[in-house]
Amino acid sequence: MRILITGAAGFLGSHLCERLLKDGHQVVGMDNFVTGSPDNLTHLAGNPNFLFIRHDVSNFIFVPGKVDAVMHFASPASPNPASPYGYTNLPIQTMKAGALGTHNTLGVAIAHRARYLLASTSEIYGDPLEHPQRESYWGHVDPIGVRSVYDEAKRFAEALTMAYHRYHGLDTRIVRIFNTYGPRMRLDDGRVVPNFIQQALRHEPLTVYGEGNQTRSFCYVDDLIEGIIRLLLSDEHEPVNIGNPVETTILELARTINEIIGNPSGIVYKPALRLGDDPQRRRPDITRARTILKWEPTTSLHEGIQRTIPYFKQKMGLE
Ligand code: NAD
Ligand code: UDP
Repeated sequence: MRILITGAAGFLGSHLCERLLKDGHQVVGMDNFVTGSPDNLTHLAGNPNFLFIRHDVSNFIFVPGKVDAVMHFASPASPNPASPYGYTNLPIQTMKAGALGTHNTLGVAIAHRARYLLASTSEIYGDPLEHPQRESYWGHVDPIGVRSVYDEAKRFAEALTMAYHRYHGLDTRIVRIFNTYGPRMRLDDGRVVPNFIQQALRHEPLTVYGEGNQTRSFCYVDDLIEGIIRLLLSDEHEPVNIGNPVETTILELARTINEIIGNPSGIVYKPALRLGDDPQRRRPDITRARTILKWEPTTSLHEGIQRTIPYFKQKMGLE
């Protein structure tokens, strides 16, 4: 297939490009570098099956040549207001990437009669009242909360994708991605794994927001990419959760990373960074992924963190 990937210079987008090229596909990567970096794609530059187009997906998209599949991953993705790349600091860009970007990429798919895959998120469940989260759960989202620029844009994106499927018969898929980590996350991204790994490598205390009892379920990037590719190749049109169902508190995550790196400096508690809308519990029910895609993650948190550390060491100039 010849596949358009938006957000190609980002963390997940760059891994997707790499994997699809490895699988023998042609890839057209698109990005405007608002949160991503050209560094993530330099190793693909000479590949004759890879074309990069610098473009903001909020504007009309033209792709020369045929397109068999469109994968829309362009969007800021970090909630951390302390990072310049956090979506609360890019609120309009985030809403435009989710709304206009989804409209424009669906337009590309219609024009080429291509299959379409939307990168949605566990954030569409908000601060969930149902646990673990199944795809049938409608969510608990504040429409004007600080996270709403991301959550509501993604909810709109899902609704628009289903409208194109139902009204135009477009061959669509929706993946609801849960917290994923690995090499190529930006150092200043602000999400918890890059923050903790860098703090631990600098032998600083890890900044736990609140009491650290909030939970997440962390998926290693290679596992996630495998699940997404299986979804792309499937005929499933309803949303599918892809993530690791092993739930951990942020405090446990901090202790694990300190132990692996051998950081003697422990933990420091930081209150109120998240203005009270930090989801308290998050864990995917992956029954649908297991049944429909025959997929489940295979990398433990311990192993995934160990595989991520060398990237940060290198980027921080520690080796
Ligand atoms: P990222 O910030 O590393 O990548 C996003 C990429 O999109 C960046 O390269 C950025 O420059 C690009 N982009 C943003 N707006 C754009 C625009 N208007 N035009 C062109 N390019 C634009 O983040 P990521 O973690 O790789 O996330 C990728 C996608 O996956 C996002 O849609 C995000 O919502 C979704 N997602 C990620 C996670 C996760 O844990 N990593 C979880 C849920 C959902
Ligand atoms: N977090 C933290 N310290 C940090 C960064 C994040 O304690 O330096 C917490 C954050 O409050 C949240 C969890 O880690 O409860 C995951 O945050 P992240 O920004 O990675 O993504 P989210 O799952 O909130 O979208």
